[in-house]
Amino acid sequence: MCGIVGFTGNRAAVPVLIEGLTTLEYRGYDSAGVTLQTKDGIKTVKTKGRIKVLEDKINELGSFDATCGIGHTRWATHGAPSDRNSHPHENMEGTIALVHNGIIENYLELKTALIAEGVEFKSDTDSEVVAHLFSKFYKGNGLEAMMETCKHLRGSYAIAVTCSDNKDEMICTRQDNPLIVGLGKGENMIASDIPAIMSITKDFIVVGDNEIVRVKPDSVEVFDSEGNAIEKEVQTVNWDIQGAQKEGYDHFMIKEIMEQPKAVRNTITSRITDNDMPNLMEEGVGADVFKNVRNIHIVACGSAFYAGMAGKIAFERLARIPVVANVASEFRYSDPIIDENDICLVISQSGETADTLAAMREAKARGAKTIAVVNVLASSAAREADHVIYTWAGPEIAVATTKAYSAQLSVMYLLALTAAKARGTLSDEQIAGYCRDLRDLPDMIEETLGSRETMEELAKLYHERNDSFFIGRGIDYMACQEGSLKLKEIAYVHSEAYAGGELKHGPISLIEEGTPVVALACEESLYEKQISNIKSVKARGAKVILVTNGDFDIDPDMCDHVVKIAKCPFFMAASLSIIPVQFYAYYVGVFRGCDIDKPRNLAKSVTVE
Ligand code: GLU
Repeated sequence: MCGIVGFTGNRAAVPVLIEGLTTLEYRGYDSAGVTLQTKDGIKTVKTKGRIKVLEDKINELGSFDATCGIGHTRWATHGAPSDRNSHPHENMEGTIALVHNGIIENYLELKTALIAEGVEFKSDTDSEVVAHLFSKFYKGNGLEAMMETCKHLRGSYAIAVTCSDNKDEMICTRQDNPLIVGLGKGENMIASDIPAIMSITKDFIVVGDNEIVRVKPDSVEVFDSEGNAIEKEVQTVNWDIQGAQKEGYDHFMIKEIMEQPKAVRNTITSRITDNDMPNLMEEGVGADVFKNVRNIHIVACGSAFYAGMAGKIAFERLARIPVVANVASEFRYSDPIIDENDICLVISQSGETADTLAAMREAKARGAKTIAVVNVLASSAAREADHVIYTWAGPEIAVATTKAYSAQLSVMYLLALTAAKARGTLSDEQIAGYCRDLRDLPDMIEETLGSRETMEELAKLYHERNDSFFIGRGIDYMACQEGSLKLKEIAYVHSEAYAGGELKHGPISLIEEGTPVVALACEESLYEKQISNIKSVKARGAKVILVTNGDFDIDPDMCDHVVKIAKCPFFMAASLSIIPVQFYAYYVGVFRGCDIDKPRNLAKSVTVE
């Protein structure tokens, strides 16, 4: 995962690099480093720990006059987080420095050959081989050296190199990992993601796979892998950097929870017509896409997968299309039964999730039509899918998703309603009714944000418990899985999500006096069944927090706390029930003293397999 940045211009590089790295810290944060072009050659400063630790280390060393440099924030894959494994990595002479995001799969083979040639390695990383390889091929022309280097690499990478004899130049390339170039005036930047360039510009180009870029203060030249110059389309970011700042909130996560009405509103508003019909024609997703489809395969990871599971319910129950939902890392190696009769629907906030991308490519190779639901503009999934539907959630910085998940859910509803129209499984009146409900959804989410205080109190009550359960049926079960994941990610609480009816087949043995159980009951046709399941955990000593939209009678031995939410169509219920659950996970994390926005061992954009 990790984030890379680079700057070349006429002002001090250090503050620009540090600011850029700070915005990329969500991608990895176990170590960080920079290489600066100084008048005495290149100077690398790197350390285990966060960007702040790096900044302090740089400041201790004094001020640097560098106007060009590269930087890295790491999420270790090869070699423990440590000073020496931190990036950048240099060649033996200390004249070339490199940052890398990704995994070099054939690093051992390359390393063995380089050692035989006399190269001495200073780290345990796979990345260091690229620095030595580049050095071996470098004869003063970075473009040529990079072209030659790439011929030897297998795996995924975004790479930036700077050489001491070209003081204002960076050479970059990528394969399966993101890289953009920010275009300023007399200054340019490279980065893994858009927020990192926004201190200097909103204009950028997206580097394509195997393209090589030479970046100087006044020029950005892009070449294909053969060295032929290519033209790139310049894009402009359509949001402000404020979207990537905390604006008075304690954490990005709570800010992003509160932004959910807006995220959903922005995602759906222009996609519902004045006569209340779903309209994804701008994305090319009309009736023809669903008319004769055999199966929809929903492929994603983590929370996006749970959004997909909620989507499965909507597609199956509204449009009667069979949906196979699979986590991306399993899908691609399962010899999936998918061909030109099927749709592969992938969901990814970043659009760079390595497993999801690989799964989408697999589906495409087998002839399936691909639809990508992504939040990040011009990301790999967005560029490679047959159709892209953006979630307009704005930049999501907290590692644990909230608003992007909610926006993904709303796209699932739009798609399912589009499919239902194409298949004639719902009447136009029914579809229009659901579209009106969908239009009201942001306001209903807003109202549900009112559960914040109650959930804070409940979190205070139960935050010391190390085990938790989430139970629900139907759509509630899908929301339970997302809620349970939140609690694990943010608060490091062991948590299980179970379909209510499944508990008695084993896991109920884990319920003991005081075990917190969050029970969701928002699907009307299943209330009674769910109540029986709740009573059976209550009878075994559980402390039950019931989140429901039902107005059924609640007897005193059924639950300990009731959180009432509004009623909406059954398939949209996850959009509301997830809100109190997000607050609960957030506050349990806060009371346990967890690092909310950067939970241990995690990174936001998972660009390694
Ligand atoms: N594989 C490299 C390392 O372990 C880069 C990992 C990353 O992309 O964060 O240092």
